[in-house]
Amino acid sequence: MSSIETSVVIVGAGPAGLLLGRLLGLAGIDNLVLELRTRRYIEERIRAGLLEHPTVELLGIAGVDDHLRRDGQFDEGFELRFEGERVWFPTAELTGGQQTVLYPQQEVVKDLLRARDTSGEPIVFEALDVALHNLDTERPQVTYRDADGAEHVITADYVAGCDGFHGVSRSAVPQTLRTEFQHDYPFGWLGILAEVPPSTRELIYAHHDHGFAMHSRRSPTLSRLYLQVEPDCDAATVPDEFIWDELTRRLATQDGWTLHRGPIVQKSVTAMRSFVVEPLQYKRLFLAGDAAHIVPPTAAKGLNLAASDISVLSEALMDHYRTGNDELLANYSTTALRRIWRAQEFSRHMTALLHHVPGQEFERRLQRARLQNLVISRSAQASFSELYVGIPFEGKPERFL
Ligand SMILES: Cc1cc2nc3c(=O)[nH]c(=O)nc-3n(C[C@H](O)[C@H](O)[C@H](O)COP(=O)(O)OP(=O)(O)OC[C@H]3O[C@@H](n4cnc5c(N)ncnc54)[C@H](O)[C@@H]3O)c2cc1C
Repeated sequence: MSSIETSVVIVGAGPAGLLLGRLLGLAGIDNLVLELRTRRYIEERIRAGLLEHPTVELLGIAGVDDHLRRDGQFDEGFELRFEGERVWFPTAELTGGQQTVLYPQQEVVKDLLRARDTSGEPIVFEALDVALHNLDTERPQVTYRDADGAEHVITADYVAGCDGFHGVSRSAVPQTLRTEFQHDYPFGWLGILAEVPPSTRELIYAHHDHGFAMHSRRSPTLSRLYLQVEPDCDAATVPDEFIWDELTRRLATQDGWTLHRGPIVQKSVTAMRSFVVEPLQYKRLFLAGDAAHIVPPTAAKGLNLAASDISVLSEALMDHYRTGNDELLANYSTTALRRIWRAQEFSRHMTALLHHVPGQEFERRLQRARLQNLVISRSAQASFSELYVGIPFEGKPERFL
């Protein structure tokens, strides 16, 4: 069994783990990333697309925003559709110029991996059977087996659990010391990637009696679209023709707008759930990103929340290593949870506003009243926009860089 020592061992090479590794590396704090999957798998995993303004700023601080600024699509707002009407939401104008950016998550991951290649910091792909040990001692350990079957043990000062919702880090916290909050929604999202130029220049969110629909873009030749479906829907059994017909119906306006159709190259169903574990710390283990919380995708907060956790955790670790002050580390959980719950609330609000639950007629009328309120009230739009573009991150790692 080989033995390695580092300051921080990071479990998971998603956006949370890679961003933490990058920021710590810039501050001269050695760290090692362990990833279950192959490099190719994580570089091609299609997920999030919408980056909040503070996430873009943090990627800039991490020095990995060149491609994002070149290829990202900077949005001034979005379009809301219901009852055949289209309403433009000028989110940037309402928030002092803060733009959201469409830039695929797998590109963020590639940018962070490229930066790690350049800095030469260690990362292990296909790390199997990762297990956390001795978290309540001064020197916790993480063990894993490599692709050739050899066993390894890493000894560190701290462990960052950035291994997503299905990872092993969260369950390393004793059950009696953690509280999990969960809400499941009675619907899912069928997402498609289609080889067709987008029919819109900005994001479209639509509320319809048949359910929610959304139109996003990936590139000048690729469109990303979503449909509200039953939670147990099997994407493979839904005919492409049905998907395009439903999208056309739910996105329709009275002014002759048309939806371009094209070959569907990928389709999958995402379950809708809200989840938070508290606290985010157990002894020398810190949880961040999807390992600690899940939001329904409606408000596109998942990746952005992972970034906001990392802003707080990276600053706290830098303070520890630079000044010996552990106050920020001790407050990590409380600080990060403040923003997590605000994002949870907004995600739940936006989900309830736009989705259709059959049989709930009273709720449906309230939904319409809420939508009307958003359309006619500038202050309601401003408050919505502030949360949509992303409230500021609480961490300030840049003060150590
Ligand atoms: C269809 C879809 C659309 C989305 N759209 C948006 C959006 O527009 N905006 C947004 O902000 N968010 C969105 N999200 C959410 C976003 O993708 C996640 O919140 C984000 O990936 C969280 O990053 P993370 O690093 O915390 O977790 P992950 O990306 O899940 O990364 C965790 C990593 O840990 C690895 N891992 C797991 N188990 C182990 C183990 N035992 N050992 C070692 N490594 C392990 C995994 O392979 C993975 O690479 C979307 C999600 C989906 C599914």
